Amino acid sequence: MDEIDVPESHPRYESLLTRHRIEHGVDLGITSRQGLIAQGRGEAYDYLLGERTTESADRAERAAAAHLLRADHPVLSVNGNAAALVPGELVELGDATGADLEVNLFNRTEERMERIADHLRDHGADDVKGLDADGRIPGLDHERAKVDADGIGDADVVLVPLEDGDRAEALAEMGKTELVIDLNPLSRSAQTATVPIVDNIIRAVPGITDHARDLQEASRDELDRIVDDFDREAALSAAEDAIRSGGL
Ligand code: ATP
Ligand code: MG
Repeated sequence: MDEIDVPESHPRYESLLTRHRIEHGVDLGITSRQGLIAQGRGEAYDYLLGERTTESADRAERAAAAHLLRADHPVLSVNGNAAALVPGELVELGDATGADLEVNLFNRTEERMERIADHLRDHGADDVKGLDADGRIPGLDHERAKVDADGIGDADVVLVPLEDGDRAEALAEMGKTELVIDLNPLSRSAQTATVPIVDNIIRAVPGITDHARDLQEASRDELDRIVDDFDREAALSAAEDAIRSGGL
């Protein structure tokens, strides 16, 4: 059972559903207990944002879609929270943009890696990377540096939802274009991103997919224009303003 027994009209439906999915992820062994804490932090910001996708976040989602579509090798990095919250939605985003899915864990254990890969396959993924771990991100200790050489190792654009700040910085230093989904605009992950998407992953991933479908026929010039027009500093300050004013 993935879902909850609460009517969709319940004012806290989305938040309850999110919590339920994370709890279920812990039960399935795909989400770490640390993931529960991360979720709690995210929820607090989302509450202040009014649990909605702001206009500025929507622009970031469109820019992220444009980056993924024009990339040579886009990869969607999947951790235990992302796998619990949006497994099918990540598969759809991969299909809409031609991006690979790679399991990439901060608290890496082979068992969790396998479970997450299975969970993604259960949701329609046919190829899941991350299990070879034959590449490294320079500047990080051994366990946290592991990636697939033909996945994130080779990617030019990486979507990293809910990533830890150190790894986000290390990926940026490798010259990768980073698209970060993080509800905290002050977190180092959001601060180092080429495109910081300050939105709940539950809304952000389908949002990027919608834009990618909309831009499917767009010319390279149009994608370039969307990418060039995106202003990361403006996105971060709009998010911070929205949170500080309680979503008003
Ligand atoms: P650093 O400053 O190094 O980036 P951190 O404070 O971000 O560290 P974590 O608590 O591991 O460290 O990060 C989890 C991040 O993920 C938090 O910023 C939180 O806001 C965000 N987050 C949690 N759940 C969600 C969610 N459902 N959607 C989007 N972001 C989320
Ligand atoms: Mg962070």
